[in-house]
Amino acid sequence: QLSFPPPNMSQTERTYIMVKPDGVERGLVGEIIKRFEAKGYQLCALELMQPSKDLLEQHYRDLASKPFFPKLVAYMSSGPVVGMVWQGKEVVKTGRKMLGATNPLESAPGTIRGDFCVDVGQNLCHGSDSVESAEREIALWFPRGAASWTRRFDSFIYE
Ligand code: GDP
Ligand code: MG
Repeated sequence: QLSFPPPNMSQTERTYIMVKPDGVERGLVGEIIKRFEAKGYQLCALELMQPSKDLLEQHYRDLASKPFFPKLVAYMSSGPVVGMVWQGKEVVKTGRKMLGATNPLESAPGTIRGDFCVDVGQNLCHGSDSVESAEREIALWFPRGAASWTRRFDSFIYE
């Protein structure tokens, strides 16, 4: 009988990925989930919610002085969003690569923004920009916490 050593999960981390109101409205929630699932990342939380202005101002607090900030908060409050926590090796950096550049006109084809949108103010999705921001955003959007579970499938994804 063959036996395999347990996969090395030492570099695992979590990120906060959010489908913005335009993505929910356009029916792209499944497409975005599909890409993270197919890549091999692990879903640890998922919720459709109508964010308050206060929550959005906290989420985007680093951008508060930008001229587009009021427009950004209005856009993000225009309908429900789908918040998710994804876990895996280098998921923060890779998740952002999968989303594509902030400005969809500069996002490579094959990325979510590159494939499905045009304007920066309607760019479909959010992804945390560092492990520290991810943990802050997860605590903000999922105050009851995300699931922590061991996936048997991991031995097919990680060596
Ligand atoms: P991200 O991390 O790639 O989402 O980009 P940022 O953190 O820099 O900006 C947050 C969000 O603000 C972006 O995803 C856009 O939706 C929006 N945003 C950024 N820059 C602009 C801009 O110049 N104009 C407008 N209207 N929205 C912007
Ligand atoms: Mg950002």
